[in-house]
Amino acid sequence: MLRVEGIHTYYGESHALQGVSLEVDAGEVVCLLGRNGAGKSTTLKSVIGLTPPRRGRVVFEDQDITGRPAHWIARRGIALVPEDRRIFPGLTVYENLEVAMNRRPESGQRRWSPERVLEAYPMLAELRNQDGATLSGGQQQMLAIARALVTEPRLLLLDEPNEGLAPVIVQQIGALIDELAATTTMLFTDQSVPFALRHAQRAYILEKGEVAYAGTTAELREHPELQERYLSVA
Ligand code: ATP
Repeated sequence: MLRVEGIHTYYGESHALQGVSLEVDAGEVVCLLGRNGAGKSTTLKSVIGLTPPRRGRVVFEDQDITGRPAHWIARRGIALVPEDRRIFPGLTVYENLEVAMNRRPESGQRRWSPERVLEAYPMLAELRNQDGATLSGGQQQMLAIARALVTEPRLLLLDEPNEGLAPVIVQQIGALIDELAATTTMLFTDQSVPFALRHAQRAYILEKGEVAYAGTTAELREHPELQERYLSVA
């Protein structure tokens, strides 16, 4: 479904991604691991067109999308839930979902309207008329994922969905990922392994803008030394 082929991405002269390649097949949940600054966010942003790679290719469903504008890519069926969640303050939960309607592809599946999302996630329905700015971190993360769903993605990218959240909330986000896995292909990032072991089938570890490891999470479980070498301690 997604093929990233040897991408090099820069911030000015800073060479953030140095030939990253990865693949995500339809139906998979894949985790991109690595320490702070390893290049996880930049990889996701390169896929969605926010930091276009200078070299290499991004291929989505057999179409070369390298260098296309982010809004064009979003309409082709990829959504990013950014690390900082970007909930719009001053808009209610419902209105935050509604604004995503204009980022839907013109045709294709219609699984997630704002109403449908609220039916599926009663926790958000209870907050329906609440200002987005007043939500807790966990509620914001749920809303950010729900808002991405309204754009009807076939591939959902989640940038550190657990960051700053209490363990009980992390469990809820994990349950949500497991539930979505039945219908949506996902690539998420994390700094440590436990969440990836529970919720992803395969993992890539990035170090200094390069892929240092690629394998199944089952295999990763058997190699704790990789965790010490390349990852933050959970
Ligand atoms: P984090 O956990 O901090 O999100 P990450 O693995 O996602 O880590 P990136 O944010 O992709 O890492 O950063 C990769 C490299 O690019 C780092 O060296 C970082 O300092 C640099 N970088 C990231 N964003 C920018 C930016 N806007 N301008 C300049 N350099 C940047």
